[in-house]
Amino acid sequence: MKANYLRLSVTDHCNLSCFYCRPFEAMRHLKREEFLSFEEISHLVRLAVDWGIRKVRITGGEPLLRNNIVELIEMLSGIEGIRDLPITTNGVKLEEFAPLLKKAGVSRVNVSLDSLNRKGFTRITGQDNLGQVLRGIKVAKKAGLEPIKINVVVLKGINEGEILDFINFALENNLIIRFIEYMPTNGLEQNDWYFSNFRVKEIIERKWGSLEPIPFFAGSVARYCKIDDTKAVLGFISPISQPFCHQCNRLRLTATGKLKPCLASNLEIDIRKPLGEKAGKHEIKILFDLAMKEKLKGRPEPPYQRNKYMFQIGG
Ligand code: SAM
Repeated sequence: MKANYLRLSVTDHCNLSCFYCRPFEAMRHLKREEFLSFEEISHLVRLAVDWGIRKVRITGGEPLLRNNIVELIEMLSGIEGIRDLPITTNGVKLEEFAPLLKKAGVSRVNVSLDSLNRKGFTRITGQDNLGQVLRGIKVAKKAGLEPIKINVVVLKGINEGEILDFINFALENNLIIRFIEYMPTNGLEQNDWYFSNFRVKEIIERKWGSLEPIPFFAGSVARYCKIDDTKAVLGFISPISQPFCHQCNRLRLTATGKLKPCLASNLEIDIRKPLGEKAGKHEIKILFDLAMKEKLKGRPEPPYQRNKYMFQIGG
């Protein structure tokens, strides 16, 4: 197996402060000059495509906060060999950006949304922005950034009561909802919030009857199901209860140019320095091959990397 999917983080800045992702104590951010420049990113992506990458997802932090992000997307969408260029966002700025993203070449959008009620949203994110996110999703649909996937991290005692609300939301708005298990990636072994997707499925099936599995999409880490008699497609991403390392086809690049073989791995391979030293195809191939070799060893055991939250890695 060789990865063909690169998750590209363009910033670690975010306009939400989800307590499990970007808590107060972790809010020391990179300076803008520490980020890879657009020229460095597009040069690297070109070399990565030569190596075998075909899909590049823009993420962060909140990617829509990176200055002139539309310009970067235009540069990337012009690279021959990229077949899919999606973006993952919290949706706060989507209302403003969706048409621009579509025009620049973004293929589709995933929106992270953990609560459908204003109080719950504010409790999780620290910001009263639910209205903006919901408007952003509507505008993204209109702009044709579909299919839109809504990613929900289910947290015990926080939003577990909203699972059926999310299903109704999906049905009403023709969206794909994916339930994601909380991962203790920051090394704090904070497991109090963990809520298994087996339980999520049980809650849905009690109301809607048996879910019908849909065959895996190649390389997908989500298991998809259908609710009978409806058009609703649901996804379950279960890194803890049903690890999917054998299916995972992705590498990650942080905003400062560190290549990570796996979300849970401590290994970071610096790409920025070789890029600055005019690395070409051959040098980059050696580094990507090294990441791949590490990846094939499988996920390291917890506890995961200390003091690294998802917003710093590029979730
Ligand atoms: N700002 C963008 C967004 O909100 O989609 C991209 C970055 S955000 C880090 C990506 C995703 O990681 C979000 O869906 C967030 O809920 C998820 N995430 C963050 N910490 C997580 C954790 N410990 N376990 C599982 N998912 C997590």
